Amino acid sequence: MTEPLLRVKDLVKRFPVTGGLLKRVVAHVHAVDGVSFELAAGETLGLVGESGCGKSTTGRCILRLIEPTSGEVWFEGRDVAALGRAELAALRRDMQIIFQDPYASLNPRMTVGAIIGEALIIHGLAKGRRAFEDRIVELLETVGLNADHARRFPHEFSGGQRQRIGIARALAVSPKLVVCDEPVSALDVSIQAQVINLLEDLQEKFSLTYLFIAHDLSVVEHISTRVAVMYLGRIVEIASSRDLYTNPLHPYTEALLSAVPIPDPTVKRERIRLEGDVPNPLRPPPGCHFHTRCPIRQLPLCSTETPGLREARPGHWVACHLRG
Ligand code: SF4
Repeated sequence: MTEPLLRVKDLVKRFPVTGGLLKRVVAHVHAVDGVSFELAAGETLGLVGESGCGKSTTGRCILRLIEPTSGEVWFEGRDVAALGRAELAALRRDMQIIFQDPYASLNPRMTVGAIIGEALIIHGLAKGRRAFEDRIVELLETVGLNADHARRFPHEFSGGQRQRIGIARALAVSPKLVVCDEPVSALDVSIQAQVINLLEDLQEKFSLTYLFIAHDLSVVEHISTRVAVMYLGRIVEIASSRDLYTNPLHPYTEALLSAVPIPDPTVKRERIRLEGDVPNPLRPPPGCHFHTRCPIRQLPLCSTETPGLREARPGHWVACHLRG
């Protein structure tokens, strides 16, 4: 079997919460709670769940933008956690991120050329001024912008154009893996499809591998090879995109899917409304985290025993006592 590009094993991230006069640690936010998955080169894994489910934290832990509490991240067979400063800097070329908010992620005081060129300078990738400028123009044109845009500032662009600048910045260092952290959530629906199409074209052109984070299943449907659904820090279902959308197994996935609009008006799908809100990640429910909202829970089994991910069908994994 070929080695996956990325392997994540039992990843855990807890954020300490301090309180009192002495600012002692009084609790922990359980942001990521034992996440495992693999990502093959050229694949797109959609990572989906509601706000606060830990998907962005998972992406940042993989890139070591934040340090995981425990667990393993292997990239091209190398243990990312064990890398020293110099090796980590080199790895940053191979793993890039596109941020959710194109308004906040670009320095308003820098020109677009300087923003895109920053990584070229850091990694010593452009030899001489001419090569530097040519590369910036090439990157701008690759994402559908033009040479004149290099001299302008981020506030002169629309949201969709700013996200294109963010994509050009990520591509500057020719990465292998790109973590797309809700790259279209802040954009108008009409612009979302354009940016997703661009990401698909770039994936083919540059053989990119994506971890595509979104809170909405409809956004990742077409771009993802496989989809993983997260709830309160855990992956509850992972399958090929086709299998997950046509035969979801986990009740939470079913609820998320029921909210996805169907383009065909003759097809009716009943909306599943979950009771209550997502529980506080400071005190996640015992057993299956989803049991407080699950329409088919079986007590006391679901509130006492944590269901592990099991392969219910070839390549289709689910964490549920009743559907595994
Ligand atoms: Fe629902 Fe129980 Fe399955 Fe959790 S384990 S999803 S509570 S049936």
